[in-house]
Amino acid sequence: MGEIDLNKERLELALEAAGLDLWENNLLTGEVTRKALKTFSELGYSDEEVLHHLDHLFEFVHPDDLAMIQSAVGEHMAGRTPEYRCEFRLLAKDGRWVWYANYGRIMDVHSATPGQRFIGVTFNIDHRKRREDEIDQINRQLAEQNALLQSLNSALELLAANDSLTGLANRRTLMDLGAKECKRAERFQHPLSVLMVDIDSFKNVNDNWGHLVGDRVICAVADICRLRTRSGVDAVARLGGEEFVVLLPETSVVHAQALAEALREAVAQQELVVNDDGERVAFTVSIGVAPLGADGQSFEQLLNNADKALYKAKQTGRNNVQCFDPASPRLRLAANSADGAKG
Ligand code: GH3
Ligand code: MG
Ligand code: MG
Repeated sequence: MGEIDLNKERLELALEAAGLDLWENNLLTGEVTRKALKTFSELGYSDEEVLHHLDHLFEFVHPDDLAMIQSAVGEHMAGRTPEYRCEFRLLAKDGRWVWYANYGRIMDVHSATPGQRFIGVTFNIDHRKRREDEIDQINRQLAEQNALLQSLNSALELLAANDSLTGLANRRTLMDLGAKECKRAERFQHPLSVLMVDIDSFKNVNDNWGHLVGDRVICAVADICRLRTRSGVDAVARLGGEEFVVLLPETSVVHAQALAEALREAVAQQELVVNDDGERVAFTVSIGVAPLGADGQSFEQLLNNADKALYKAKQTGRNNVQCFDPASPRLRLAANSADGAKG
């Protein structure tokens, strides 16, 4: 056996051991001068069915991968890449797509007609690709689950911060916000007032019309308070049951009292249709107004004052606004007193 044959044998052995399949193409004519027989037999084709001209590439290569191969070959032909490397899917005889890698080089770059000898190897990377796909899929699923968890978390945060019936801030949120606003008002010597709003004789609404109607009345009052206050400045919270607090930064007691009166009137004018017969329920609120006192008054103390004013409003006949007077332990009657209130 001559040296050339020996070398050929050695090369074949090395290729086989490494799982590589040698091919050679003439890029100028498109002829496949050495066929990747091992690859095509692995894919289930007979020797006659193997790619024999580059024009037939599209019969075997996944349509999504063709452009990538053409561009990789083009880059190498133009001398922009030292070797040609590409990964693509080949169609097996049974219809499966199998991943292969190609590694090659133009051997006659310095000849007058470079591209006549384009030699390379092909090897199966299907297992690796599928693992990568699985990992990609797992990563995508993880990302989706993370996004879901994040939206659940924000929904939970909202639930924890807001009252589920009305969507208003809940007591906890109010207490946090109120404490901050009190500190800020004191530091900058700005006015701050609160309204304590309570639906009058609400038990009667529940008793006469049922809890669901009661809930709708609560929501109607919540909406009026929300829509008639400054969004982003004032805060409306449901303290519990049929009781609300409106926190009014930068608001003097005079303005707070005027707002309370407007709220009271808006509620008194509203009626809800409660059944198919068109029966309506009317309802009213009583409101206690309190301004933040001097010298580091706490938000709890401020609420307490508003509650005292509310108590007075209830005592004075309901559908009524009363204001806490910080100068005197006695409550003074607000400009508008109740008329036509229910007891
Ligand atoms: P007042 O004018 O003195 O405030 O009388 P009231 O009937 O409004 O006050 P009371 O505290 O006696 O009754 C409040 C009622 O509110 C009792 C409770 O069953 C009802 N309530 C509390 N929370 C809810 C709620 O979320 N939905 C409904 N429908 N009713 C509620
Ligand atoms: Mg009530
Ligand atoms: Mg109450």
